[in-house]
Amino acid sequence: MNATKYMQQHLQDLKEQSNLRRLPRMIHDGRHVTIDNRRMLNLSSNDYLGLATDRGLREEFLRTLTAETFLPTSSSSRLLTGNFNIYEELETELARLFDTEAALVFNSGYHANTGILPAVSDTQTLILADKLVHASIIDGIRLSVARCIRYRHNDTNQLERLLKENHEAYRQIIIATESIFSMDGDMADLTKLVELKRAYNNVMLYVDEAHAFGVRGKYGLGCAEESGCIRDIDFLVGTFGKAAASAGAYIVCNRVTCEYLVNRMRTLIFTTALPPINIAWTLFIVRKLPAMQERRQHLARISRLLREALQTKGYDHPSVSHIVPLIIGASADAVRCAEELQRHGFYALPVRPPTVPEGTSRIRFSLTAEIKEEEIKELARLISQSHI
Ligand SMILES: *Cc1c(COP(=O)(O)O)cnc(C)c1O
Repeated sequence: MNATKYMQQHLQDLKEQSNLRRLPRMIHDGRHVTIDNRRMLNLSSNDYLGLATDRGLREEFLRTLTAETFLPTSSSSRLLTGNFNIYEELETELARLFDTEAALVFNSGYHANTGILPAVSDTQTLILADKLVHASIIDGIRLSVARCIRYRHNDTNQLERLLKENHEAYRQIIIATESIFSMDGDMADLTKLVELKRAYNNVMLYVDEAHAFGVRGKYGLGCAEESGCIRDIDFLVGTFGKAAASAGAYIVCNRVTCEYLVNRMRTLIFTTALPPINIAWTLFIVRKLPAMQERRQHLARISRLLREALQTKGYDHPSVSHIVPLIIGASADAVRCAEELQRHGFYALPVRPPTVPEGTSRIRFSLTAEIKEEEIKELARLISQSHI
């Protein structure tokens, strides 16, 4: 079989399993999207605070710009000539907000997660990763020379056992988790993880707050702020592409870790830095995040409403956040359900294997502060009426 035929066959298999993906064509219009002439409320956005659709914010930012400051490229890696001042301004602001010694900014969450773990690992490292961590963390583990064991999702008893059994055999152990999980919308028990890590002097904690930065904590710094354990997390990572309505990612950490990453992290060293104009926008947003309590509270309110509505209708789910799964099971059924919701003006998407385990295909609602209480109630009514 030649290569194209092989790919064709594979695509055909995916199609038969209802797992074929394609790039959707759409027109964005604030909190709505239009696809095939159908205008729908976007329930699949990561714009959790609704900042990306806020025209006023963009206008305010544009007023600060001149041709001098509108720099659309860095033209280089930060280690060569791409290190514009604005990068360090953003890092200084992040370190100030989190009250850490240092912060370092990356091109994306994917760059962060595929770069940090390989940089800080050696063959004497064991990574203990939650079974449900994001693909980018898994790829980071694969690129590292560390040994890795995945523990059952949020099973801190198993994790405790693994630490006890392995801490003497390795130079260091790194526990890797998300704070809010992408697909289930549930949370890691950060307080417990910190307690487990503290029992040994060679155990470190890596937490990805992609879904929590901007959303959780009094000042929007994430679940670590909420749990009061920012300084107990050795590698506290977050992204700007979701609630912060921008692009890029950060780590807040101590000075030595930061310097080590600058020297070792391939996804920082061997890539052109983000455009300074993008960093300026991120900084503009980051400075406003602490004061966005009202948006955070509204998001929390409508999320609770949806979670409780699903529960009442007999749809069990583990969510404690603004990411709420409606777990259906078979991929074909999830696809049908999404189509039904879309016919009624709700743009919700099915999530299928390999993104989630076989047999747990689902609709994944990803709520934003732009969604109104009435709209959640209407959605809940629709779900109970339709035959899913
Ligand atoms: C979105 C996401 C990423 C990737 O971040 P990008 O900036 O989009 O590359 C990493 N980790 C988690 C948990 C995510 O949800």
